[in-house]
Amino acid sequence: MNRWLPTCLAALALTAIASAQQTGTVDRPTAPRSSQKLPMNAIAEQYVKLVLAVGQHDADYVDSFFGPAEWKADAQRIKRPLTEIDGDAAKLIGAISDRTDAERRDTLLVLRHDYLRRQLEALRSRVRMLQGARLTFDEESQALYDAVSPAHPNSYYQAALDEIGRLLPGSGPLVERYDAYRQKFVIPPDRLTRVFDRAIAECRARTLAHVRLPDSESFTVEYVKDKPWSGYNWYQGGYRSLIQVNTDLPIYIDRAVDLACHEGYPGHHVYNALLEQRLVRERGWVEFSVYALFSPQSLIAEGTANYGIEVAFPGDERTKFERDILYPEAGLDASQADMYNRLQLLTDRLAYSGNEAARRYLNGEVDRAGTAAWLARYAMMSPPRAEQRTRFYDTYRSYVINYNLGKDLVKQFVESRGGVASQPARRWDEFVSLLASPRLPSGLREPGR
Ligand SMILES: [Zn+2]
Repeated sequence: MNRWLPTCLAALALTAIASAQQTGTVDRPTAPRSSQKLPMNAIAEQYVKLVLAVGQHDADYVDSFFGPAEWKADAQRIKRPLTEIDGDAAKLIGAISDRTDAERRDTLLVLRHDYLRRQLEALRSRVRMLQGARLTFDEESQALYDAVSPAHPNSYYQAALDEIGRLLPGSGPLVERYDAYRQKFVIPPDRLTRVFDRAIAECRARTLAHVRLPDSESFTVEYVKDKPWSGYNWYQGGYRSLIQVNTDLPIYIDRAVDLACHEGYPGHHVYNALLEQRLVRERGWVEFSVYALFSPQSLIAEGTANYGIEVAFPGDERTKFERDILYPEAGLDASQADMYNRLQLLTDRLAYSGNEAARRYLNGEVDRAGTAAWLARYAMMSPPRAEQRTRFYDTYRSYVINYNLGKDLVKQFVESRGGVASQPARRWDEFVSLLASPRLPSGLREPGR
């Protein structure tokens, strides 16, 4: 059901486009003259339609859409060629007007201009990739996600691995010792639902204590198999999400809070619901009725979803909750919780190793088997998990940087504005204003704006 209601301004914008098209000015393959600027709502509507058009060539591109159903139907019916989409995106970028004085006084309006321009540039890059352009890993992440992941030498990861090695019993390859140790922390499949339900309830309660969410928000959890990811939030619009959890591989106890926060509260579900409520419905900004997966928006989405875990569970509150509530719920030995969480904090230092693996694999320097072996050594991934990860790289490519670099950029941004752990209410406020804004990844480095 389409919950989006066009504003009067959007209707006016439609008229502007229609008249421009009649005279052939917008459709001509030359850049529009400076006088051919369009209102922002017209730019936004055309942006949505271009995203839907790209979705006809790339099944993963449109992650979510809850705008007018006829726009999607038109995209399917017309199936515009990529060259035409690219040409229109270029013209649309040229049609974005300079900010007016009134717009400059509203931070969100300033961000909106930059956001639409950059999202359109990323769309053009994705189109070029679909046309066969080959970018290096870093070129691609810059083009699509407005960020480049720092490179670390193997020695950077080795330092963390050495520390982990001192904590794990036995001898032999670290990945095998880690895997053997973790067996005690697998959630039994018949307890998965109750453990997740309890984790979701906790994450939701902690979020609602600080964030006013739409009354009708809700989400459904489904357990699925044979996917290249471990969890996915499919936002449906109307403040509803469908969250899928992949049960191909064993699910460890720490994944319950991870997934409940990341996919649900205060992660993707809250992010999408706030964008719909505050930007689409309250401001009539239709560009947020669509979510282009391979775009800068994803770094903000994944970064906030990951950082949201420590916002919801400051200090040692996560360890306490897991030990006192989730371990008993899963029938696991709670006396091991502190040690396991210590180990997890150390493994967090390996987070960027996946970026290195993907960078070398996608740049063609290492093949799939070599990448899986590298992941086993430097990311301590078991062979099936490492293989699953290479399949993730095949599909989502440099998207991997959004999780770890995204989290670090979001954390720096929120904390540079005073949202530090010792000021939990302030941290929530800064976090929520970032969630409900069109800020770009490069803008996270500019805390003054
Ligand atoms: Zn995510």
